[in-house]
Parts: sequence; C-alpha cells; structure tokens
Amino acid sequence: RDILTTHHFELPMGRVLEEVKENYGRLKLYINGELVDSKTDTIGKAYNPAKDEVIAEVPFSAKDEVREAIQSAQEAFEKWREVPITTRIQYLFALKNKLEEYSETIARIVVQNHGKTIQEARGDMRRTIENVEAAISVAYTLYKGEHLDQVSQDIDETVVREPLGVFGIITPFNFPTMVPFWYLPFAIVLGNTVVIKPSEITPVPMDFIIKIFDEVKLPRGVVNVVHGAKDVVDEFLTNKLIQGVTFVGSTRVGKYIYENAGKSGKKAIVQAGAKNFVVVMPDADLNKTIPSVISAFFGNAGQRCLAAANLVAVGNIYDDVKRKFMEASKQLKIGYGLDESVDMGPVVTKDAKKRIIGYIEKGIEEGAKLLLDGREAKVLDYPNGYFLGPTIFDEVTPEMTIAREEIFGPVASIIHLRSLDEAIDIINKSNYGNASSIFTTSGYYARKFRREVNAGNIGINIGVAAPMAFFPFGGRKESFFGVLHGQIDSVDFFTDKKVVITRW
Ligand code: NAD
Repeated sequence: RDILTTHHFELPMGRVLEEVKENYGRLKLYINGELVDSKTDTIGKAYNPAKDEVIAEVPFSAKDEVREAIQSAQEAFEKWREVPITTRIQYLFALKNKLEEYSETIARIVVQNHGKTIQEARGDMRRTIENVEAAISVAYTLYKGEHLDQVSQDIDETVVREPLGVFGIITPFNFPTMVPFWYLPFAIVLGNTVVIKPSEITPVPMDFIIKIFDEVKLPRGVVNVVHGAKDVVDEFLTNKLIQGVTFVGSTRVGKYIYENAGKSGKKAIVQAGAKNFVVVMPDADLNKTIPSVISAFFGNAGQRCLAAANLVAVGNIYDDVKRKFMEASKQLKIGYGLDESVDMGPVVTKDAKKRIIGYIEKGIEEGAKLLLDGREAKVLDYPNGYFLGPTIFDEVTPEMTIAREEIFGPVASIIHLRSLDEAIDIINKSNYGNASSIFTTSGYYARKFRREVNAGNIGINIGVAAPMAFFPFGGRKESFFGVLHGQIDSVDFFTDKKVVITRW
C-alpha cells in the first residue's frame, strides 16, 4: 500500500443492502421508539420527480401526535442526560457504522424521492456521516467546561455545560439526510432529545433512517420523527417543553419561525434562502474555473442553498467565460439520477418546475437575453419527469428580478462588469448573504474579496463553498437569522453554561 494513495481510505460504502422499493406505502411516525400509524386524515404524497409517480403517502401528524412525540422526548431527556457521555458517544459510533453500511441504499432513496444524481446523493451521505463524526469529537473537546482556581481567597469558579431538553428540527426538501444531521448528532451526543419534522416533499430517506435508530438500539424517545408542515412547526413553536428549534429552508418561512420562536422565548437557528454570486476575474484560469462553475450552477439542478445563481464576468474575460460556460452546459446529460452517466436530474416537484419557468419568462420579459433555454429539455425514457435543462441568460442587470430573487433551479444569469469593486458592491447590495465565490489567480483580489464581501461562506477558486461539519455553516443578511450557526457551532446552541462559584 503506497502511502500516497492511502488517503483514499476505503469506506464500506457502495453495497446496496436493500433494493429500493417502487412504493413505500403510508409512512409511519416514530414516537417513543415505536413506529406508529398516524390517525390523521390529512395525507400528502411524496413523488419520484423523474417519473411523476407517487412513492409514499405522508401523514400530516395530528396535534396530539406531535405533542405525544414531544412528551416522549421530554421523558427520554430526563434519563438520557444521566447516561455518561462516554456511553452516549457509543451510540453515535454505532450510528456512523450503520449509516456507512446503508449509505448506498439511502443514497438511492434520496435520488428516488428528490431527483438529484446518485453521485450527488453519495456526496450527501458522506456529509451526513461526517456530522456524526464531528459530533463524536465534541464530546471530548468543546463540551468540556472551564475552571479557574483561586479567583479570590479560597474561591474557585467553574463553568459546566448542560443539555437543555427537547429540540424541534425542521428541514428543507433539498438535503433530506444531510440537513437533519447538521443538528441531530450534536443535539443528542450532548444529552438533549429531538423531534424531527422532515420536509413533506422528501420524507422518504428519513423514514429509512428510522430503521437505523432502531438497529443501533437508540434508547426510546431520544429521537422522534413526525410528518407534516406548518401545523407541526406551530406546535414546536408554542409547546412549553420545546427548548429551541433549528430551521433550514426559505427566507419567508424562516422569518416566521425566528419571530415566533422569539415570541415564546425559544432558541432558534434559522438558515434560510440565498442568491449566490460567482465572480470570474480576468486573470482566472478558465480550464479550472469552468468545471467548478458548472457544478456550482447546475449541481443538484440548482437546488442548493449554496448554488451559484449570478455569474459575474469582470472585464475582458467576459466573452471567453460566456462561450466556455455555454459549451460546457450543453454537454450536461439530463435524466434519471439512478443512471450513473446522468449529470443533472429533474427539479423536485411539478410546482417547482412551474415556478422556475415563471422566472425564465420574467427574465425574457425584463429584457435579459436567453442564450440557452432549458424549457425544451426532453428525456425520452422519462417523458413525465419534471426535467429542465441548464438555462443561461446573458445581458442581465442587477436590478432584474432574475438577478435578485432566489429561483432555486438550473438558471444562470451572466452579468458583465468592469471591476471587482463593482462586483463587490452588487453582491453587498443583495438581500441575501449565504455564499459568494471568486475565481482568480491573484492573491490581492482573493483577499479583497474575502474581506469585503458580506456573505457567510466565501469560496476562493471553489464554486460551492460548503463548510465541513467541523466548521460552522455560515450565512448572513436574509440568509440567516440567529446567533449560532449549524454543524459544530450548535454545541453552544444545544448546551447552556452554568457558572459555579465555590468557597470552602
Ligand atoms: P421551505 O421553507 O418551503 O420549507 C422548509 C420547511 O419548513 C419544511 O419542513 C416545511 O414543511 C416547513 N414549512 C413550509 N411552510 C411553512 C409554514 N408556512 N410555516 C411553518 N413551516 C413551514 O423550504 P424548501 O422549499 O423545503 O427548501 C428550499 C429553501 O431552503 C431554499 O430557500 C434554500 O435556499 C433553503 N436552504 C437553505 C440552506 C441554508 O443553509 N441556508 C440550506 C438548504 C436549503
């Protein structure tokens, strides 16, 4: 084994332990360690967007079911916090191992329910598992308190971190495994318990993960799963037992959650919508830039909070950027994500497709030049899928709707500017501040960009600036509400500090 190749550590992924099903039936709730049938008569549907076929029924949990889940989490909390941390982390090791084992199966379910490509779904699983690993590490490090001896005569002062109780986890459709795991492993390793409400559009991957909670024998009530939308969230926001909520989703809903969490005195992390810029400077190396930019715009069919939306070409590189970006975009193969050769899957729902087409029409109406029209994309084997091809607008101005609002689909707007100062000015005027990237070979430009751009995640020669689990996931302006961010930052969110002053 050559030392230079051993960093490609072989993980036990890649085996399909269970074939994906055509239909998962009516999903169950997971309350107090039991799979239960919901009594609700509000039933939603989860689809396979490549086929326009229903793959599961989603019971929108009744209020008393949500309350029951919260109550079971509360009862579990009182015992779970007493379990030594060295034992709690053993459950996370077991969870990691099972997630690795089932990783390929879950990735395939993600493709089925969300539409992204299998490569993208495998990437999601890697990130999902990485959060469990990071949560294990905090148990030995950040969780520890502080102590200062003899702060005054015979007096010592100590800080202990304590878990808080039950947290509600509210997640978006676009990362059905990774986003819940930005929070879940950190919350539970620190002694809290959770109730998760997956997106009602993509609830099927979490339904499979419930089986893993059971297989690792996670004690009853530590993790609960309910389904639904606003009604479940409203119960989280008002139920006295809930200590805080984490939300990832659109800015409109995020604001509502932040305001209402504040009203009832609950903690909240709210990571919201985005409109991300990629700036290409005249000195950029386009051979390296274009592949990265293509994946930033069209990866996940543009349905990432870190997806690039506006492509700013500065100075005389504009013509080359436009030509090469167009050429590469036309090469992308669209189709069902389970086909390994596919580069881009469908968008998530019929409504999403309609909304995105609405934006394309708006762009034309407002005078942008449509260079590549994704509305004409056809996938012969899947004629009913919600497919859209890469769409590129040129001659876009920052005032146009397509340059300002989050489209959340495979639509790129090219903006031609004269200088980096102009680019930074436009980025900073955007309502959003999730991510921004620059492609350059100049350290001066890179540093200026990093210091002056008001966004939470900065990419320098990286198109999708996605922080790893052991870093916080940034976000500013209307892309984020709160104080602490997701991933490793949530150690401070899921614990409180108690100060003990002692004299003997
Ligand atoms: P969404 O806001 O529609 O839904 C998110 C969650 O909120 C879902 O669980 C949904 O059931 C719930 N919800 C929907 N309407 C609600 C209401 N009226 N009241 C209370 N809860 C409600 O978002 P989405 O379409 O699922 O996800 C896409 C959005 O998420 C995009 O805006 C994207 O930028 C954002 N996102 C942000 C990040 C980030 O880290 N900043 C990461 C991923 C996605």
